[in-house]
Order: sequence, then C-alpha cells, then structure tokens
Amino acid sequence: MSTTTNVAQAAQAELGAKFAGELIGPEDPSYEQARAVYNAMIDRRPALIARCTSTADVAETISFARRHDLLLAVRGGGHNGGGLGVCDDGVVLDLSLMQAIEVDPSARTVRVGGGCTWAQVDAATHEHGLATPSGIVGSTGVGGLTLGGGIGYLSRKHGLTIDNLIEADVVLADGTQARASAEENPELFWALRGGGGNFGVVTSFNFRAHPVSTVLAGPTLWPLEQTAEVMRFYREFLPAAPRELNGFFATMTVPPGDLFPAELHLRKVCGVVWCYTGPQEAAAELFAPVQALGTPLLHGVGPMPFPALQSLFDGLYVPGLQWYWRADFVRELPDAAIEQHTAFGEKLPTMHSTMHLYPIDGAVHDVGAADTPFSYRDCNWAEVIVGVDPDPANAGVIRDWTVDYWDATHPYSAGGAYVNMMMDEGQERVRASYRDNYDRLATAKATYDPANALRVNQNIEPSMGA
Ligand SMILES: Cc1cc2nc3c(=O)[nH]c(=O)nc-3n(C[C@H](O)[C@H](O)[C@H](O)COP(=O)(O)OP(=O)(O)OC[C@H]3O[C@@H](n4cnc5c(N)ncnc54)[C@H](O)[C@@H]3O)c2cc1C
Repeated sequence: MSTTTNVAQAAQAELGAKFAGELIGPEDPSYEQARAVYNAMIDRRPALIARCTSTADVAETISFARRHDLLLAVRGGGHNGGGLGVCDDGVVLDLSLMQAIEVDPSARTVRVGGGCTWAQVDAATHEHGLATPSGIVGSTGVGGLTLGGGIGYLSRKHGLTIDNLIEADVVLADGTQARASAEENPELFWALRGGGGNFGVVTSFNFRAHPVSTVLAGPTLWPLEQTAEVMRFYREFLPAAPRELNGFFATMTVPPGDLFPAELHLRKVCGVVWCYTGPQEAAAELFAPVQALGTPLLHGVGPMPFPALQSLFDGLYVPGLQWYWRADFVRELPDAAIEQHTAFGEKLPTMHSTMHLYPIDGAVHDVGAADTPFSYRDCNWAEVIVGVDPDPANAGVIRDWTVDYWDATHPYSAGGAYVNMMMDEGQERVRASYRDNYDRLATAKATYDPANALRVNQNIEPSMGA
C-alpha cells in the first residue's frame, strides 16, 4: 500500500463487519481530533486509527497491522510525553472506547478497561470508600501509567500501581489472548509490571483497592528564596514520617486560580503538595514542623475527597499544551544538587513549567528490585523536570531549560529514570532505567513479541541470548 488513504480503505474492506469499533483514516472529519495526543509538541499522522471496543477488535487490528507490515502504536490515555501512543504512517490501536469499570467492594478490587482514565477509576472506587494507587492527574491513562509503574499520592502507604495489580487480560503480539497473574503466565505478569507496552495490549486490569476516602491534602508554599532550607528539611522529614503521609516537592509558579490567594498569583515558589491518609487527630502534630519551617506563604492543607485531590491539577494541565520532559531516579538530595534546584527554580521559563520530586520510599521499598521490572526500589524520589507552555513559539525555550536543568542535576541521580516520565530518548536510557532487569525483560520480549511488533514504546529489544 503506497498511501495512507489506501491503508484506511484496506482496513474498511478487510475488517469491515468484523470490527465493531471505529476505523478513522486521514479523510475522515474526526481524523484531526483522533490523532491528537495530550502533548501538543507531538504532531504525527497515522494512516489509520482503529478505535477498538473489544478484545476481538484489538486482535483484528494487530493482525491487520502485521499483515501489511505497518508500524503499530497502542494508545491508552494518550498522555505519554514522548507521544508513544501515536505514530506516523502506521496504525494507532486506540483503546479509549474500552472503559468498563467494575468495583467489587467486598473483595476490595476494581476491574478496569484498558482505555480508562484514572479520573474514571477514582470516581467509581470512591463510591465505595476505596482507591487504587495511581498518579496525580486524573486525565492520565490507566494503561500507560500502570505498565510503566505508577507513582502517586498513595505510593508510600500502598506501593506503586503495579504493586496493586492482581491480573491483566492481554492480547499478545500474535493476536492470541492470555491472562497474566501470579498463577497464570507468571513471567508475562512479571514483565507487564513496569515493562511498558512491550508485551501485549492490555484490555483489562484487575487492581487491589484500599480504604481511602477523605484525605487531608493541599500545598504548603514558601518563597523561592527558601528553596535550599525547605529541601534540606524535606529530605530528612519525609523519609522519617509515617507512610500515611505523602508529599511531593515542587518548584513552581503559582497559577492564577481560586485555589490560591490573589497576592500569590504568578509568584515563583517552592512547596510540597501533601496527602495524609492517617488518623486526623495526629495531623496537627505531624504538620507542626512543616508550618514552623521558614516563612510559609500558604499552608493550604484541609480535608477533601480523594478524587478532588486527584483532579486538583487537571484544570491547569489541560490537553494541548507543549511539554518537554526529563527525569531521573534520586537516592538522596545532596547540598550540591539542592544548589542546582535553587538556580533552575529561579529560571523557571513559563508559568506551567515545574520540577517535582515524587516520593518512592515506604511501601515501594517493600518490593524487591527484581520482583518487578521497576528496579530502582532503593531510591527515595522520582525526579521529573517538565518545561510546559501553551504557545508553540516557546517550545525551544522550555526544551532548553529542561535539558540544561537535567544536565546539571543528573550527576546527582541514581542513573536511570522512571520510564513514564521520559521523552523518546533511545536505548541507552531505557537500559539505564531497567538496570539489572533489562536482560530478563529482553528474554520475555523474545518469548511474547519476537518480531518486536510492539515497538512504539520505551522499547525492549527481543533477545533470547540475554
Ligand atoms: C500531566 C501528566 C501527569 C502525570 N502524572 C503522573 C503521575 O503522577 N504518576 C505517574 O506514574 N505518571 C504520571 N504521568 C506519566 C504517565 O504515567 C505517562 O505519560 C503514561 O505513559 C501515560 O499513559 P497513557 O495511557 O495516558 O499514555 P499513552 O500515550 O496512551 O501510552 C503510553 C505508552 O503505554 C502504552 N499503553 C498504553 N495503554 C496500554 C495498554 N492498555 N496496553 C498496552 N500498552 C499500553 C502505549 O503503547 C505507549 O507506549 C503523567 C503524565 C502527564 C502528561
């Protein structure tokens, strides 16, 4: 097939009645909207977008792409920074119509379709006073976030999202179906818990959920000039705090919104966004040293339903902004690194740009480095630097700040990065991120996808001899 139009026509002719979802080609009126992903810096034109509604649709789409030797991208929530949910010229297998959610309150589990967002899952589990650990922005896809690890407000108490995965239903690269759990296909189950979309298309996840309903949450903000003092406090305070307390550190610009007092709007600050799930009567004592530190501009911690916390940033980080990402795992925060964070905080290039340190101690450390592909279980933080702005004209400015910042702080990191917070940065970064687990992943890849049909991801190249 020579043109992208021909691909869409061939799909209509070959899949036609067998395919219950939507087949969208470049000529379709919905094409522009269907090809767009969250990061507007990514501008790719697939030949076909197949919006699947069932495992049969997924299997048909994979077979079609392979039959015609077309690149195949799998799209969950479309949030990936590097745009790994879309490709040029090939086929996008879009799961966004697969949104069934079934909560079992007595078993404390939730079964989730492969195309759900976390906001949908949070709303469903909250009705039963439950929550599954996930990320901090509701519009993020369950698929990509889970398969890369899943770091969020409940990580210190209940672990990563993958630590709460009980089983997954998968359509493999050869179009067959498999269930992965500790009992069934355990090697596939191991590989899925951090190995990304390399091993198959997950049509349904079954997660453990925990009793989490109203939490004490919100930010404490300090003047940017106090960054060094706050970071030195934070690096000692949080690791020693009970697991019920989570707080990610940020340098940021206060957005002009109701959440913040008008006098702070557009001021550069440092801060911690807290989430406390422990007994409320212990909170005052717990937060006392935080409030006594430096001169806080705001201590906005109060009770809120967990889904409200989960969607706190959704209005700020709407789809369609320009994003440039860099990340690292961090074991400790030496003074020299703190100096760099202070310097680059002062140079925040735009209102949306930020640096976050997400805690990955506590329950995340209960799981061994080789128990899942997520190998940096000895680190205390996942650091992410994101240059963000609505204006494409600022793409260069945000990219340069992000890269310069990363270059300055990378020497103080543990080496690799959280795969979900990288751009498409090549094999060396992927290897560094899986560390000693890479060879086992490569062997699993050779078993489940020997032709590397699923390669629009943080790719693990198949290797039986690994
Ligand atoms: C604003 C924002 C906030 C974020 N916050 C957090 C956070 O707090 N914690 C955190 O851990 N991460 C966070 N992330 C990172 C996020 O985990 C990744 O961007 C992740 O890739 C998003 O998954 P997705 O399904 O939306 O992405 P997509 O772009 O759809 O997919 C990403 C990758 O996963 C694969 N994939 C997706 N679904 C499936 C599936 N069902 N089966 C097989 N492969 C699949 C795709 O092929 C692709 O390679 C955030 C991202 C953004 C943009």
